[in-house]
Amino acid sequence: MEDILFDRLIEKMEKVNKKVNREFIKKAFFFAKEAHTGQFRLSGEPYYEHPYQVAMILVDLGMDDVTIVSALLHDVLEDTPVTHKEMEELFGSEVVDLVEGVTKLGKIPYSSKEEQQIENLRKMFLAMAKDIRVIIIKLADRLHNMRTIKSMPDKKRRAKSLETMEIYAPLAHRLGIYSVKWELEDISLMYLDPVAYKEISSHIAQKRVEREEALEGIKKSIQEKIEELGIKAVIDGRVKHFYSIYRKMYTKNRTLDSIYDLFAIRVIVDTIPDCYSVLGVAHELYKPMPGRFKDYISMPKQNMYQSLHSTLISSNGTPFEIQIRTFDMHKTAEFGVAAHWKYKEGRSSASDLDNKLAWVRQLLEIEKDNENPSEFISNLKIDLFSDEVFVFTPKGDVISLPSGATAIDFAFAIHSQIGWKMVGAKVNGKIIQLETPLKNGDVVDIITSSHTMGPSNDWLKLAKTSQARNKINAWFKKENREENIKKGKETIEKELKKVNITIKDFEHPDLQSFVLKKFSFNHIDDFYATLGFGRISVEKVMNRVKDYYARKNIQLDIDNLVSKPTKASGKSNSGVIVKGIDNCLIKFAKCCNPVPGDDIIGYITRGRGVSVHRADCISVYNIEKNEGDRSRLIEVSWAESNKGLYSTELLITANDRTGLLVDITLALNELKIPLRALNAKTTKNMLCLINITLEIDSFDKLSRAITKIQGIKEVIGVSRTSK
Ligand code: MN
Repeated sequence: MEDILFDRLIEKMEKVNKKVNREFIKKAFFFAKEAHTGQFRLSGEPYYEHPYQVAMILVDLGMDDVTIVSALLHDVLEDTPVTHKEMEELFGSEVVDLVEGVTKLGKIPYSSKEEQQIENLRKMFLAMAKDIRVIIIKLADRLHNMRTIKSMPDKKRRAKSLETMEIYAPLAHRLGIYSVKWELEDISLMYLDPVAYKEISSHIAQKRVEREEALEGIKKSIQEKIEELGIKAVIDGRVKHFYSIYRKMYTKNRTLDSIYDLFAIRVIVDTIPDCYSVLGVAHELYKPMPGRFKDYISMPKQNMYQSLHSTLISSNGTPFEIQIRTFDMHKTAEFGVAAHWKYKEGRSSASDLDNKLAWVRQLLEIEKDNENPSEFISNLKIDLFSDEVFVFTPKGDVISLPSGATAIDFAFAIHSQIGWKMVGAKVNGKIIQLETPLKNGDVVDIITSSHTMGPSNDWLKLAKTSQARNKINAWFKKENREENIKKGKETIEKELKKVNITIKDFEHPDLQSFVLKKFSFNHIDDFYATLGFGRISVEKVMNRVKDYYARKNIQLDIDNLVSKPTKASGKSNSGVIVKGIDNCLIKFAKCCNPVPGDDIIGYITRGRGVSVHRADCISVYNIEKNEGDRSRLIEVSWAESNKGLYSTELLITANDRTGLLVDITLALNELKIPLRALNAKTTKNMLCLINITLEIDSFDKLSRAITKIQGIKEVIGVSRTSK
């Protein structure tokens, strides 16, 4: 197979490296050409011209065979039917990994952002690349696309130029690949600020012949002088890059005429003493401008850039810059170890990214003497950001998170409210499990709902950032009121159920205010929220509930406590009918002394018949609670023909006064209620507690007695007792 492009490629490669694997390159070249057959670029040329030119750029940068092969194949996976597997079989996993890396980088969406976002985007490029060669191929790809961008519509040209200026040129700069950086900047400038570009280019063009003659003259005279000294040198003269002139004009507010060093001469020699000799020669030939000499050889820049700089005035009065360095220093500068980027970009301190890239440059420096370029390059496999992961918001903002971070971290990094309202997350359009670690380049979309109960406890384990954990904790402390209310309610409901009380019973205004008062709350939700958060114990609440039932005023009707007996059958021998059982032994419980009209319930004792309790008696709850079931409870009801007298006990609380007991006994006498026993005591704080035992025949009569006693002066409360 004959191909002029291929021949040129090989020729160029062999100039740099004698050990080129011709067969490998050849296979890739013709494979790519074949795969892209029938495809054309917007400019009309066959598509394979593009990967070929990208490869050529990379040969100039001194890249290894694998990189050149990957460059030739870089658009094959995306634009042709060739599969990953095929490519891997033909060219190996290293190549296919690089090609895939380049394809992935091409998919990172870009839209213009503020500086911090752009910085994150650059980091994402580096983080996603894994192997620095992916970035270098991508830079070459972008460079060729920019060189041929003319055929694109204007809007697209501007967009690509902006992206190049904000992402690609700074990456090239930071990697120290200046030749690529400058060209990217100059082409972008042409589309981004055509007026300024034209001004600069026409200014330079005006004096083109004059300048070229001057440069030639300078080169010649220096050349002659140093040859006399027996020094070998490569001298080239060039116009400084438009974009660096542009920056000087705009950042230093200079006119084109006042920028001295539009032109530069570069002299490259073998040894450091040669550098100083050349400098001496140059200063002898041309008048140096005061204060413009910089010795970066004896005092290298922080980034290992080494060179001698001086500004001289040519015979026709035009100033020019001269840079003198060794071949080693030049290689370093061109290939990436250089970088007077800090000075040029006006940065005062190195950012995190800069530190990491300085490390890459150091690595390059160490490796630069390595004879074998492929070994040299494979040492550049990087994991610059192994501790970080970069992901996108749906709007295209880049969020940086620690590696292993989940959608939970992402949500809280966006906004606390997003985190608190999160109910799920989508990554690249698909719903994911919240524990899934995010990957570089993922587009993360948090699903929120205003009806959510807020973060769950296990989120604390899934969150990697302290920001997320702090915000989750804050939620648990105060922000998740709704969730705590719900939880508090559930907690008490579960406990109440054990004693057969419903939440509805609990929320009865009387009981509710009794409980709230005890714990100093005004609103039931505050109480639930505090209980839910765990600041008051459910045991204390239950004790209060039991107190309530123990001291409960009998007028209070707890309907739902136990179902009322219906269709009771059987005969009564005690005024009480036990459902389904005739003539069984009935005893009235001493603890609560039920009277006819009370809701009652029977308890089947072991061998001593059925004891009858008030349905709301605390003993019944205890029985249930201790035995865990209701199987020994039995429905009982009052017989309609009931004429008996029942003994019951009341507790009267009153402020102590003379004549109190007399008034109580008179009241009972008036109602014709026999008084069986009376026991009174006065507390330290002058409260009088009076226990009375009455013989009563109906609930109605008991109610009237209670009402009457409550009407007596200084009486605070009357309740039926239950022990
Ligand atoms: Mn491409």
